[in-house]
Amino acid sequence: MLRTHTCGELRAEHVGATVTLAGWVHRRRDHGGLVFVDVRDRNGLTQVVFDPDAAPAAFEAARDVGHEWVVAVDGSVRPRPAGQANPNLPTGAVEVVASALRVLNPARTPPFEINREQAVEDGTRLRYRYLDIRRQRMQRNLVLRHAVTAFIRAHLNARDFLDVETPILMKATPEGARDFLVPSRVHPGRFYALPQSPQQLKQILMVAGIDRYYQIARCFRDEDLRADRELEFTQLDLEMAFAEAGDIMALNEDLFVALVAAVAPHLRIRQVPFPHLTYADAMERYGTDKPDIRFGLEMVDIGPDVAGSAFRVFADTVARGGRVKAIAAPAQFTRREIDAFEAFVKGLGAAGLAWLAFDADGAVRGSVARALAAPEIAAIRDRTGAGDGATVFIVAGDAPVVALALGRLRGELGRHLDLIDPGELAFLWLVDPPLFEWNAGEARWDSVHHPFTSAVPEDVPLLDTDPGRIRAQAYDVVCNGYELGGGSIRIHERDVQARVFALLGLSDAQVQAQFGHLLTAFEFGAPPHGGIAWGIDRTVAILAGEANIREVIAFPKSLSAVDLLTGAPSPVPARDLAVLGISVVASSPPDATDA
Ligand code: ASP
Repeated sequence: MLRTHTCGELRAEHVGATVTLAGWVHRRRDHGGLVFVDVRDRNGLTQVVFDPDAAPAAFEAARDVGHEWVVAVDGSVRPRPAGQANPNLPTGAVEVVASALRVLNPARTPPFEINREQAVEDGTRLRYRYLDIRRQRMQRNLVLRHAVTAFIRAHLNARDFLDVETPILMKATPEGARDFLVPSRVHPGRFYALPQSPQQLKQILMVAGIDRYYQIARCFRDEDLRADRELEFTQLDLEMAFAEAGDIMALNEDLFVALVAAVAPHLRIRQVPFPHLTYADAMERYGTDKPDIRFGLEMVDIGPDVAGSAFRVFADTVARGGRVKAIAAPAQFTRREIDAFEAFVKGLGAAGLAWLAFDADGAVRGSVARALAAPEIAAIRDRTGAGDGATVFIVAGDAPVVALALGRLRGELGRHLDLIDPGELAFLWLVDPPLFEWNAGEARWDSVHHPFTSAVPEDVPLLDTDPGRIRAQAYDVVCNGYELGGGSIRIHERDVQARVFALLGLSDAQVQAQFGHLLTAFEFGAPPHGGIAWGIDRTVAILAGEANIREVIAFPKSLSAVDLLTGAPSPVPARDLAVLGISVVASSPPDATDA
């Protein structure tokens, strides 16, 4: 090695040793006739002192080096002078007195500073990702990500799971997104699809007798990007034969608990065992299937209190089958704040935001304080549990609009009132979601999870009569308002699977073409099985305290789906396309991938 120690290694016990360090010039200071250079590698940094009397050539060389040059330094370790030790730095007790400095490679002036945390525009960070990764934030996040995947592997290996790789060039798998297609050269006009997940292959592995499978799998979905979405993402993919939903949830719950203790012990899990919330309950109380339960502010149905009201807006909503729901916030708000909340819910489709404030002296104020009768107000107060000084916010409308608007307002209020403890992880299992939802546009049922999910056994007869009421044997794991992932007990009987495909509007020919392999496999002794997949990117982001998953991915795409480092996607020479039997009929402008 070109070094004897890393830059994070030297301690008081090394005093007197002759060492060679190699790394990047983190910072240089000329001070009292001496030059100080902090040399950095990913293990840490070490202060190196250049003394013109002791080593004149090294001193001269050190005066020339710039930030981020790569250098090697020979020298000896000594204690820092009295009063100059740095207790915040692991190597802070010592320094290296240099005898020689070799420049291994100079560097251009970096487009942003590596040696301090500063806001840098995202595009610049991605274009110079290798510099961005040198910075502390990305170093810390990548180390954490490694710790997470290493822990998961060790945990599952110890429980008899087999890590099996599945192909990247596959047949299309329906997870509800668009596929990335890869043209076949050998078979012009035919395409592989990049897997949206290894779903069918992991089920086929169960038929193959690999009764505990996992893979830290890359998945590809051609969707519009946002803060929590990348074109490709990584998930822990897992499947078990002879297991029931409770077994899969328990196994993953143990994994999460052990993982947090091992890699993020400063975070507290709010409740173990994780609470189970039905889909219906979550929608009713939080207006979403991925609630953040680190705080209360639950939604309450006040329909019964206003159904007979002279205030027509509420009464009419109830009469037409809509909902009138409320949240009691333990605070008073200014008119400006309330106007901002109203604009927020209107942006989500609500007609308006009504409110009632209960002053400590018994007075009631608010937009509907006069419109509602006193007993109605008393009933609302009673049902929402609003105390003195509380404000009740009310949204009326169709159920989905009320759920969305009031559910999001709940999140706004939680943040506004500082009710969210960032040191807490509120995991929960969301259970009993519907198996299907009606797709009015296409006049057919759609799977809510995916078409391989089985029904709760007592609901199976509804396949023929009322598919919309069937509950799925599915579960999502939710944490702090994010859906980390989900899974289900699968259909393992060929005929049931065929009936589900039929409900989804697939013809026999389509089923045969798309899923014939799976149905055939099911004819050869498919064991009952189920599994789950959850996002590594989002999990690491939550553990790292990052809002955006790009902060925990080494080389993410920009929000416009471009790899700013390499410039992908890029045009391909016509002759390469000709080999594939492809001609381009529409193309983006030449600079489309610059931004
Ligand atoms: N394949 C599913 C997904 O990627 C997860 C599962 O059902 O195991 O969302």
